[in-house]
Amino acid sequence: MSDWIKLKADRIFDGQHMLHGKVLVLEADGTVEALLDAEDAGLGITECIGMLTPGFVNTHCHLELSHMQGVIPEGTGLPLFLQTVMEKRNGGSDPLKAMTLAAARMIEEGVVAVGDICNSPATLALKQHSHLYFHTFVETMGFIPAGAPQRLEQSLAVLEQFRAIDGPQHRSSIVPHAPYSVSKALFNLLASLPGNALQTIHNQETLAEASLYLDKTGAFLDFFRHFGMDISGFAPTGKNSLQSCLPYFNDNSQVILVHNTFTTETDIRFAQQQPQTLYWCVCPNANLYIEKQVADIPLLMRTGCTITMGTDSLASNHQLSMWAEIAAIREAYPGIPLEDILQWATLNGAKALQIDDRYGSFERGKQPGVVLVAEDISRKLY
Ligand SMILES: [Zn+2]
Repeated sequence: MSDWIKLKADRIFDGQHMLHGKVLVLEADGTVEALLDAEDAGLGITECIGMLTPGFVNTHCHLELSHMQGVIPEGTGLPLFLQTVMEKRNGGSDPLKAMTLAAARMIEEGVVAVGDICNSPATLALKQHSHLYFHTFVETMGFIPAGAPQRLEQSLAVLEQFRAIDGPQHRSSIVPHAPYSVSKALFNLLASLPGNALQTIHNQETLAEASLYLDKTGAFLDFFRHFGMDISGFAPTGKNSLQSCLPYFNDNSQVILVHNTFTTETDIRFAQQQPQTLYWCVCPNANLYIEKQVADIPLLMRTGCTITMGTDSLASNHQLSMWAEIAAIREAYPGIPLEDILQWATLNGAKALQIDDRYGSFERGKQPGVVLVAEDISRKLY
C-alpha cells in the first residue's frame, strides 16, 4: 500500500458531485484507485487545503493564435475581430515560442485535454511531444461554392499531417469554421468524408450571423466586401444560421457547437430534434472580449443542453485558464451551482472529445489528472 498517493480535501469534485471529507487514492502514475472515507484510507494521507477536481478539458482553443495576445482591442464585434485576425495573424512575435508558453501554462493550471482548432500545421511539432491530450480540429472555410473542392483539398493536406501523429495522445478531424464562412457545397463535401464524425463549429457568436441568414443584411456584408468576395450566389434561408446549417452535418456526427452567444430557445428546440449528438460549448471570457455578451447559460441548462467549456484563443482572451472561465460564469450567473459548472469543465468536455474512458472524472481506472483549486488559483498536482 505504500506506493499509493492518498489525497484528502474538504471538497473533492468527482466529475459529477461534490464530496466532502473523502480521500482520493491514486496509483503512482495517477490512475484512480478509489474514493474512500478517511477512516478507511489507512496511513500516509496528504491533507490538501482547497478543492480537488479532475483535470480540465478545454473543448475550444486556437493554440496557433497564441502570438496574437493583446493585438486586437476589446469590443470590436466579431466581423471586425475576424478581419483583424486574418490581416495580422502572420505578423508579430515568435509564434512557436508563444504556443509553447501557452501550452505549458495550460498544463500548470490544470488542463489535461484540448479541442484545438487549426488552420495550419503550426502546432504539429508541439503536439508531437506534449503532455496534453489534443483533438486537432482542422478547420476549413470558403463561402464561394465554386471554390469548395479546392478549399477542402487544402485542408485535407493539413489534416494528413496531423493524422500522422494520431495515437493515444492525439486525434484529428476536419471541420467547418462557421455558417458565414462555409458554403453549402463545402458543408456537403465535409459531410461525405468517412471517419470524420467528431465535429465542431463556431455557432452564433454574433447577431450578424442571424442577419446574414435571415435576410442577407448586416455586418458580414461589409466583411465580404472588404475581402472582395462576391456572394451574389448566396440566398438567405429566412432562418437563423444554426437552423440553416445543422442539417448539413452528417446524421451520425457528434457536434460541439461553440459560443452560442445569440442562440434562442427556438434554435435549441430545433437542434435537439436533429439526429446529430450535440454539445454546447461556452467561452464566456472570449465573448466578453469580442462582443461584450455572455451566452444565455440558464437557457441552455433549462432546455437540457449538454454544456462544455472553452477558452478560445489568446487573440480573444487574456489567458487560457479554465478556472478563469468558471469564474466568469459565476460572475455572470451567480445562481448556478459550482458543481454543475465543474462538470461542464471536466466530464462533459471529456465526453465531447470522446475521451471519457480516461479523462473527466475520478472513476476507478481513469487517469484524469488531479487539480487543486485554492485561493482562486488552479494548479495541477498529478
Ligand atoms: Zn474559436
